[in-house]
Amino acid sequence: MSWTLMIHGGCGAMRPASLPAETEEQARAGLTAALDAGSAVLDAGGAALDAVVAAARVLEDDPSFNAGRGSVLTAEGRVELDAAVMDGRDRRAGAVAGLTTTRAPILAARAAMETSPHVLLTYEAADRFAREQGLEQVDNAWFVTPARRAQLDTVMEAGGAFDTDIKYGTIGAVAVDEAGHVAAATSTGGLTAKRWGRIGDSPLIGCGTYADDRACAVSATGLGEAFIRAVAGHQLAMRMRLGRQGLQVALDAVLADVGALGGSGGLIAVAPSGEAAWGFTTPGMYRGLARNGGERTIAVYSDR
Ligand code: ASP
Repeated sequence: MSWTLMIHGGCGAMRPASLPAETEEQARAGLTAALDAGSAVLDAGGAALDAVVAAARVLEDDPSFNAGRGSVLTAEGRVELDAAVMDGRDRRAGAVAGLTTTRAPILAARAAMETSPHVLLTYEAADRFAREQGLEQVDNAWFVTPARRAQLDTVMEAGGAFDTDIKYGTIGAVAVDEAGHVAAATSTGGLTAKRWGRIGDSPLIGCGTYADDRACAVSATGLGEAFIRAVAGHQLAMRMRLGRQGLQVALDAVLADVGALGGSGGLIAVAPSGEAAWGFTTPGMYRGLARNGGERTIAVYSDR
C-alpha cells in the first residue's frame, strides 16, 4: 500500500504581497525539511505515528513557526507550549499543555501516551514529567525570538486583546502509513497575548488533534476557542464514520461550522484509504503533502 504525509505550519493573513520573500523562503524550507523527516520514516516502512512526530520535531525547532522555539508570547511575555499526538490504530493519545521549559513538546505528549496512564498533563507537572522522562529542558527565554517579542509589543500597544488576526502558525502533521494506519500530531505556542493558563484546541483530543483508523487523522490551526466549541477533529471523524461523508466534504463542513462560531482557521486530514484533504478560511496556510513515489506539494497561499 502507499503512504501519505500532510503537514501544516499554521494559517493566517499572509498574502503574496504581504509576506517578505525571505520569510516565505524560510517557511518553505522548514516545510520541506519536515516533509523530508516524515517521508524518511514512511519510506522505510515506518509507522504513521513515528512519521508525524518526526515531522513535528523539525517544525518545533524551526523559529518560522509558532511551536517550540519561535512560539508566540503570552500577555506576560512568556512562552507556554501545548502539544498532542494520537495513534489511529488504537486511539491511544497523549497531550501536554502549558509547558515552559521542555524543548520538544511533541515528545512530551508522546511520552505521556506511552509511559503514563494519563492522556493530558499540564503546567509544572507536565514539565516535571518530561524532565523525568529525560527530555531536554531549556530556559523559557530560549523559546523567545525578537520577532515574537515585537509581535507581542504591537498587540499590547493596541490594547492587549489576544490576537486573532496575525497569522496563527501552529504546526501539525497527519499521516497514513503503508499498513493503512493513521496518526496525528499538533504542537503550538497558542495565541499571541493569551492569558496565563489559557489552553487552546491543539492539546485537546477531538478538538485540534484526532486520529481514528475507522475515519481519519486530523490536525487543526486557527482560533482555538472556536475549534474547541465545534469539537472540530472529532466532528470531522464522525461526519465520515457515521455521516458517511467524504473527507473533503466533511472537512469543509467543519470549517464552516467553526466559521459559524466566529472562528477562522484550517485543517489537514488523511484517511486510511490514502485520501488526503486540506482547507482554510484565512487567506493562506503553510502546508505540505508528500506521497510515496516522490509526489510532493508545498504551498502557502490559496493557489500556490
Ligand atoms: N489553534 C491554536 C490555538 O488556539 C493557535 C494556532 O493555530 O496557531 O492555540
